[in-house]
Amino acid sequence: MTISELIRTDGPAEAVPPEVSLGQLHDEANRVDEELLPCRINNPELWFAESPSDVEFAKALCLDCPVRAMCLDGALERREPWGVWGGQLFLQGVVIPRKRPRGRPRKNEVAA
Ligand code: SF4
Repeated sequence: MTISELIRTDGPAEAVPPEVSLGQLHDEANRVDEELLPCRINNPELWFAESPSDVEFAKALCLDCPVRAMCLDGALERREPWGVWGGQLFLQGVVIPRKRPRGRPRKNEVAA
């Protein structure tokens, strides 16, 4: 099932709203069988984990989520400060490729 199928009503297909609020995401998620929503059937702390391997696991679980596109769009619009949303890791409002392990300095970090 795609997100466009999820937002379709009995009448003509509706356009995806330009902004996706958390309330809209929850409404959409509530229309789907809860067992299809990875962040509802797994430990939700995985989506805000400190461990890079847990973060990657949460991202992988999101790939099968029926509301992934809406989740990602909303997170981008809201500039989520932290966590895995729509299969992507957000930090300070932007998608970052992966979480760095703690205590490891950046290569381009300037010594104080
Ligand atoms: S895509 Fe969004 S709603 Fe779906 S499992 Fe991931 S975080 Fe949860």
